[in-house]
Formats: sequence, C-alpha cells, structure tokens
Amino acid sequence: MKFNTTENQYIDDMGGHRLVQYMGRCERCKSTLYAMPEGGGAFDSDPRGVLGVNHAYSWATAKDYDMTGPKVLFCYYCFQDNNETYQKSLKIAKERWKMEERMKDETINAIREYFVQRNTHGIPLELESMLDRNDRTSLLKWLARYNLTLEDFEN
Ligand SMILES: [Zn+2]
Repeated sequence: MKFNTTENQYIDDMGGHRLVQYMGRCERCKSTLYAMPEGGGAFDSDPRGVLGVNHAYSWATAKDYDMTGPKVLFCYYCFQDNNETYQKSLKIAKERWKMEERMKDETINAIREYFVQRNTHGIPLELESMLDRNDRTSLLKWLARYNLTLEDFEN
C-alpha cells in the first residue's frame, strides 16, 4: 500500500484484491486520503484497517453546523472527537463555508444586476459566456450548485 500516489491501487486483503481510491488531501495536515469502496459502505474509510487514522478520510458537513457549502475533507485523525486538533479542523471548514456564503451572495447580486442592466461586472467568466450564448441548460445547472433557479432573479 502506497500513501504517496493519486492512482488507484489494489491491495491483497483477506485473500482478495481490494481497490483503494485516492480521495484528496486532508485540509489540515495535507495527508493523502484514500477510500476502499468495496469495503462494505459505499465509500469505506475505516481507520482500523490498512489506511489507519492518517489516510482514512472523514467529511465535515456544513449542514451539521447550520451552514451551507461543500463537504470539507479531512483525515480521520484531524476530524475525530472533540480535541484541539478537531477544533482547528472545524475552524478551517467553517472559514471555507463562510467564504462560499460570501461568494454566493456576491454572485447573486451580480446576476441580479446583469438582468437589470446587462452589466457583467462581478459575474464569473464561465457564467458570463452562458448568458452571452443564452445557454439556458448550462445556466440552470450552474445556478443549481448554489441552490438557485432563474425564478430567484425574476422581478
Ligand atoms: Zn489530517
């Protein structure tokens, strides 16, 4: 088992070959993180197995802290129990979610402005080209990432 690769790998485990997938890096300690999707759960990350506490992943979920934003990835060590390391990790996650919320607000304001004045100031480039092309399908998909629909901008 290698802990320095982003490639899929296989390990021999209890007489069988098991897939190990790279998931990303821990947001606090930058340790590489892996999942073993064939290990029972949809994405098994059991720190008691070969991954150990430093390479098994754990998610911080915004909803659990009454915030919004994408899940933030940590290793099991950095995001377990209520110790000092956990508090540091949680702070990193909360800063990420606050940034997302600010970005969401700024983006909404910029899109509102666009629909009123056709002013593209503050509109992310990828969104600007969708508006230019009147690409409704891509636009709706983009807005859905922020839990928005076009109705949010009408009137
Ligand atoms: Zn970590």
